[in-house]
Amino acid sequence: MDHQMIGSRGSTSTKGQDDPHERFPRAENRNNSDLGSWASGRLPVVTVVALLEGLWITLHVSGLLGPLASLTFPLLTFGAIVATVVGVRRYQPRSSWPWYGLATGFTLFLAGAIVRTTSHSLGDLTSHRALLPDLITIPGYLAIFLGLMGFARARHRDRSTRIDTALDAAVAALAALALGWLFLMNPALGLTSSPLKVRVLVAAYVPISACIVAVTAGLAFSTGRKQSTADLLRLAAMVLLLVGDVLYMMLETHAVLMPETLVDIPYALAFVSYTACALTPSMRLQTEPDVEAQNSATVGRMVILGLALSIPGLIAISRPATSDADRAVLGGVVFALTAVAILRMVRAIHGHARSEARLVHQSQHDALTELPNRVGARTFLDDALVRAHATSAPVALILCDIDRFKLINDSHGHGFGDDFLLKVAARLRRSIRPLDLVARIGGDEFLIVVQGMTDDDEVLHVAHRTRRALSEPFHINGSEIASSVSIGVVIAEPTDPDLTAEGLIRDADTAVYQAKDAGRDAVVVFDRGMHDRALQRLTLQRDLRHALERNELSLNYQPIIDLPSGRVSGFEALLRWSHPTWGQVAPLSFIPIAEDTGLIVEIGAWVLEEACAQLATWRRDLPHGNRLEMSVNLSARQLRDPAMVDRLNDIVRAANLPRGALTLELTESSLMENPTLAAEHLGRLKALGVSLSIDDFGTGYSSLAYLQKFPVDHVKIDRAFVLGLESEDSSDETLIAAIVAMASALGIQTVAEGVEGTEQAERLERLNVDRAQGYLYSRPVEASLIPGVVTRLDSAARGRLTAVPERFSA
Ligand code: C2E
Ligand code: CA
Ligand code: CA
Repeated sequence: MDHQMIGSRGSTSTKGQDDPHERFPRAENRNNSDLGSWASGRLPVVTVVALLEGLWITLHVSGLLGPLASLTFPLLTFGAIVATVVGVRRYQPRSSWPWYGLATGFTLFLAGAIVRTTSHSLGDLTSHRALLPDLITIPGYLAIFLGLMGFARARHRDRSTRIDTALDAAVAALAALALGWLFLMNPALGLTSSPLKVRVLVAAYVPISACIVAVTAGLAFSTGRKQSTADLLRLAAMVLLLVGDVLYMMLETHAVLMPETLVDIPYALAFVSYTACALTPSMRLQTEPDVEAQNSATVGRMVILGLALSIPGLIAISRPATSDADRAVLGGVVFALTAVAILRMVRAIHGHARSEARLVHQSQHDALTELPNRVGARTFLDDALVRAHATSAPVALILCDIDRFKLINDSHGHGFGDDFLLKVAARLRRSIRPLDLVARIGGDEFLIVVQGMTDDDEVLHVAHRTRRALSEPFHINGSEIASSVSIGVVIAEPTDPDLTAEGLIRDADTAVYQAKDAGRDAVVVFDRGMHDRALQRLTLQRDLRHALERNELSLNYQPIIDLPSGRVSGFEALLRWSHPTWGQVAPLSFIPIAEDTGLIVEIGAWVLEEACAQLATWRRDLPHGNRLEMSVNLSARQLRDPAMVDRLNDIVRAANLPRGALTLELTESSLMENPTLAAEHLGRLKALGVSLSIDDFGTGYSSLAYLQKFPVDHVKIDRAFVLGLESEDSSDETLIAAIVAMASALGIQTVAEGVEGTEQAERLERLNVDRAQGYLYSRPVEASLIPGVVTRLDSAARGRLTAVPERFSA
């Protein structure tokens, strides 16, 4: 044992020849992660120190040191202490107390050694033996033990891994104890010539050493990462320390005889190893948490455990117990080893089951909210459907989709978005009954599965309550977020044998889609027709992509009439789609799809080109054709398109149209989507000589004041107001009069849409509306029919003009 070894030397404290303080640059800060060589370009200090110490040991062994040989051990012990302080300050490990634990141990060894030198207690097993050196040294071992425990603790944050490591260590300790008992303790205790307290004290070193071996082994083999240099050096130091202890114990009990210079070697090398360990950059890793450590069955660990477990058996076979005490101790060790091994096995099996359960849990749950995910929801729903089938109680799905969640995420950041979702999840959790389930099945989609509600109204009531709950503002990081939710409800009839969880979720999704379409913040209950419509929409969307290239699109033209004269002033181009299987598809069915998918940009460009070319032909070929104008509808999406202006410029030039011949029709809502951008783009379009018209006027924001904001030439009074002119009620007439007054004040022309009857036409004329368009004059027709229509309308206008005096005279 090293207490004796050190004690046999003179112990003058001496400073390491290679004082590391001189050489090491200071750690700038804690974040300094330079774990490579300290001395840039120079030999690393750790190598220099190790070489010097190695040299000293070589001189020591060869006997060249002379009287200086007595300095070897105090010197190297002191070197280890200094190296600890230097290493900790240089590398700033996350936790330094395990290192200082080891240093404290070495300091006590050093102190014990000094005391021992003065009392000459080595090999003295008589009642005169001074006990003080041992009483100082043994706490030194405890300090080392605690230090090593500190490393193990810092590494394994997870309690379960810690217990496993401790059990592995216990196996190693028990095996070491068996050997120690056999070769050291039993003989030491059997020295009947010595007083009992001395025997006990000497024997006490064995179990202590065994514990240290155990912790070291546990540390070395339980790591999930590759062993670092510092790991290996510390392991070597501890093993060498143990070898030294065993040799000294044998020396103490006179079991062996050898020159002390040789017996000192393991200790000397132990301190060199340790010094190198403390000065190696990877020392910092010793107290880093070992993330991957899952007590993997490394080969090294298995070998150690296997050896440890077989040792008692080997002893039992090779050496029949000699005394009752011997038998009792070995029996106890075997019993304890078996117990620990079984415990370890049971824990491993449980651990396996636990990690399997954890995997299943992870696969069925959402990591953010801890709610079941889509898979979990489906599993639950499948079970619920089976139960529902048995009890014929309906199951209902309430699917909540947060409105404009992307906006929240984009404007406040993803962390904020996560907080928001957590709050939503918490509100939903609170709102459901114990029987029901709330799951997060998509980014901002939460599904509630409601069981055992017999009444559809009851389910609707829950859906509306949920909608209200999520409409209450959220408070996140001091800001208030107002949000709304679109909800789709599906009520499943349990008698339906074709019900599947996935199918129900899809239906709920369709209903949510409808709720969004209806302007969001709404609850929509799914019905079969909805499914068909959704399917149809999908088909349309797919087919529309090819409609243009397959020549399925065409334009119809509807004449626009100059009101006092009744002559044709121009046309509105209206898009038609002739679907190969469904025939004519209404623009109101496919244009929104074209807008949603962005296809409208391409299609719209084609419409403009086609309409402009057509107008150019008519202006050239029809009688008095050069008065004719063309109106083309423009979607908001097209207005946003930055390439729009250039494209239109090309088109107008190609058709060689004069200024004012082309009018673009835009709805109020498409202008209001982004008024600033709209005003800018409209200004550039105007500069090309294009006229602008507000379509469906009066149905949108209806603010006449907005007219001033945009360079508008025409407003098209919506069909709804024109329709009102049929009745006696004069409110629509008043409204039209107001529009006309306002428009003419601003120099804007008015066009009435959807004129179907002569009565309406006359009243519009009296209201001084400039132009009219509607079935009364002509339905939208294909281009080839237009010359005939124009001729008919123009001659009718002439006829009417001559008829006017008659009518007035009547
Ligand atoms: P809109 O711009 O308001 O077009 C007028 C709609 O009213 C046309 O419907 C037209 O056929 C219809 N209409 C005309 N006179 C009468 C009438 O006297 N009575 C009734 N009941 N209806 C009349 P259509 O052709 O079905 O177009 C519907 C909508 O599709 C258009 O409404 C327009 O918003 C859009 N649209 C049509 N073609 C295009 C296009 O090329 N581009 C864009 N972006 N949208 C278009
Ligand atoms: Ca229009
Ligand atoms: Ca319109």
